[in-house]
Amino acid sequence: MVISEKKPFEEILEYLKDAKKVVILGCSLCATVCRVGGEPEVLEMKKKLEENGKQVLGYKILDPACNYMQVRKDLKGLKQELSEADAVISLACGDGTQTIAKLTDIPAYPGNNTMFIGEVERVGQYEEVCLACGNCQLGWTGGICPVTKCSKGLLNGPCGGATKDGKCEVKPEHDCAWIQIYEKLKKLNKLDNLEVIREPRNYAINVHPNRIDLKDVCNKCTL
Ligand code: SF4
Ligand code: SF4
Repeated sequence: MVISEKKPFEEILEYLKDAKKVVILGCSLCATVCRVGGEPEVLEMKKKLEENGKQVLGYKILDPACNYMQVRKDLKGLKQELSEADAVISLACGDGTQTIAKLTDIPAYPGNNTMFIGEVERVGQYEEVCLACGNCQLGWTGGICPVTKCSKGLLNGPCGGATKDGKCEVKPEHDCAWIQIYEKLKKLNKLDNLEVIREPRNYAINVHPNRIDLKDVCNKCTL
């Protein structure tokens, strides 16, 4: 899931300094779970903007905000409001905000900061788990991501700085990812995975692909 947190309201007001009429858009998926873009947050934003002299012409919880075709369909119901508005405030993640920006002719401002791809441990508690590095290593690490969870992003670890109680030298409040990987591989009887020296990460792979079309990568694909 994409984890986001609210932007400071002052920052949003600064974006809107030249805007009087506003539309607010939330998202039914990640932003709702993170409690930054569901109906309660959209209504809270509406109230705060109105208290600060803005006119909220409409709002909608997109389902979800990162699906271009769905957003295009959802925004048709707000056609009139969007034609009169000076700006949109998006309470989706950065992906959803970019989709909204593509489909609107007025400025679309982010109301949230997008933090990372993470796991929801419980409401309000999220664990960073993936940096979308483009070359997943989980197959030999026991399913624990060294790129994200090791402070140095090492593929051959541990670094030698881990403390005796298994904490990271860079962030002493965190467990050393490589000790966790060791323990997990031991449990899986796969410790020999650690005998292979891994090549340094190829950062060229991490050049952002920009877009992926499954028709190009799968000749059997019927999409
Ligand atoms: S190695 Fe880690 S950062 Fe890279 S894709 Fe896999 S989980 Fe994500
Ligand atoms: S102590 Fe462990 S988690 Fe911290 S940088 Fe070294 S290998 Fe990575």
